[in-house]
Amino acid sequence: MSGGLRLILLGPPGAGKGTQAKRLQERFGIAQISTGDMLRAQVAAGTPIGKQAKAIMEAGQLVPDEIIIAMLDERLDQPDCRKGFILDGFPRTVPQAEALDKLLQKKGLALDAVIELAVDDAALTERLVGRFSCAKCGANYHERFHPPRVPGVCDVCGSTEFVRRADDNRETVTARLEAYHRQTEPILPYYRAQGRFYSVDGMADIDVVSREIEAVLHECCPEKLD
Ligand code: AMP
Repeated sequence: MSGGLRLILLGPPGAGKGTQAKRLQERFGIAQISTGDMLRAQVAAGTPIGKQAKAIMEAGQLVPDEIIIAMLDERLDQPDCRKGFILDGFPRTVPQAEALDKLLQKKGLALDAVIELAVDDAALTERLVGRFSCAKCGANYHERFHPPRVPGVCDVCGSTEFVRRADDNRETVTARLEAYHRQTEPILPYYRAQGRFYSVDGMADIDVVSREIEAVLHECCPEKLD
């Protein structure tokens, strides 16, 4: 791969950004950067950032831009980003999008594509409140759409322990969707105006969405694919 593939996956909570970002990481060997995962690790470790972020995340609101931008600045300098990266859950506000442009400029990097996963609002709550994952290997499941083949046993590693995100409850999900519409959606026109913006139907089957994303990459930056 030449240069490194640098992508943003946009879309509301539950659109499938994490699932697709993981697939892109495996397929192209680039870093998956999820600011949500980074914050959850800080909360679990009880760091000062984690302590500040916990209540905000549980309320389904957004963590202040300064914290997120500083976290991302540091993360982009990690060695695993040299081959490229996928941003999943960042940027989430116009100031974050503007700060990202400045950070990339400072680091001499450019984005190849900004890909939106477009999803019906009505489907999101159902997707979010039903999801859970294996406590051991992290494999993702959904009560209705993708339960383990043997109930209570992870398909991938055989573990019988599962976890749910603290913010995947109905009340917090409502607040997260509201935050998306109010604070994150305005970044769509920002990227549309920059001309590297693509939209993919996130309601389709997971494999179909993956193929559509790959088709976008063939269109926007074929020289960066194997
Ligand atoms: P996610 O895993 O992307 O759904 O993020 C979970 C929660 O972490 C969000 O509801 C926010 O509270 C917080 N969060 C994650 N990424 C950001 C971001 N870029 N800006 C502000 N808050 C964020």
